[in-house]
Amino acid sequence: MSPVSVLQAIQTNSLLLVVVAVPILALLWYTYQFTFYRSLATDGESGLHESKTNCPNCGARVSQSADRCEYCGHAVVERP
Ligand SMILES: [Zn+2]
Repeated sequence: MSPVSVLQAIQTNSLLLVVVAVPILALLWYTYQFTFYRSLATDGESGLHESKTNCPNCGARVSQSADRCEYCGHAVVERP
């Protein structure tokens, strides 16, 4: 391998790295932000309006007045 071809290989690899890494980082950042804001929204819900509970099957926030989870259909047992 000549020095020039090594340099070209490094440049090609770094370009590939950028092309692959940037979308992955963007996706991770988006997922992180989405989870963060969603947790904020969930916290803001508690104590307001109707009381909610977590679905014992999928963990979704469901109304305590509902007898079934609207997401997975699991029966929501109201605990005291
Ligand atoms: Zn559920």
